[in-house]
Amino acid sequence: MLISENMAAKLNEQTINEFNSYWIYLAMAFKLDAMGFKTFAQWFHLQADEEKVHAMKFAHYILEVGADVSLIGLDKPKYDYKSVQEIVEAGLEHEMFITRCINDLADLAAKENDHATKNFLQWFVEEQVEEVATASDLLSMVKMAKDDVQLLLVEQRIMELRGSGGESA
Ligand code: MG
Repeated sequence: MLISENMAAKLNEQTINEFNSYWIYLAMAFKLDAMGFKTFAQWFHLQADEEKVHAMKFAHYILEVGADVSLIGLDKPKYDYKSVQEIVEAGLEHEMFITRCINDLADLAAKENDHATKNFLQWFVEEQVEEVATASDLLSMVKMAKDDVQLLLVEQRIMELRGSGGESA
């Protein structure tokens, strides 16, 4: 195994965090669809898809360095959101949490002089800058709307946020 037991365990934990992100965003997408906001729903479906890709990146890296991927059941995602803004705020909060997780992993890799993992994590460090920026931009747009009719107008513009910031998979 090319990495420490501790690092392997922490990377496995992050794999599960990323799958939980997938689950959380999928629940948000279903809720938004049920609320009648189809484009916001589409946004979170795309977000969920990205999280699954992130989880797979972690899993493949763990296997590549000779450790095991050990999955557990996913947490029941929150579903009783009351508004689009509450969902978008929760999305931003979740990305802040994931950013802290990635930073902790990067700290550990540096502490253990684990250059391979440090290098692997670099993509995620950059990805999180973009994720938080995009989630913040989305929240700013949502906050501009005073009611659901205005929200529907905002909804027509949100995909522009994805176009400009480059690809994130
Ligand atoms: Mg992610």
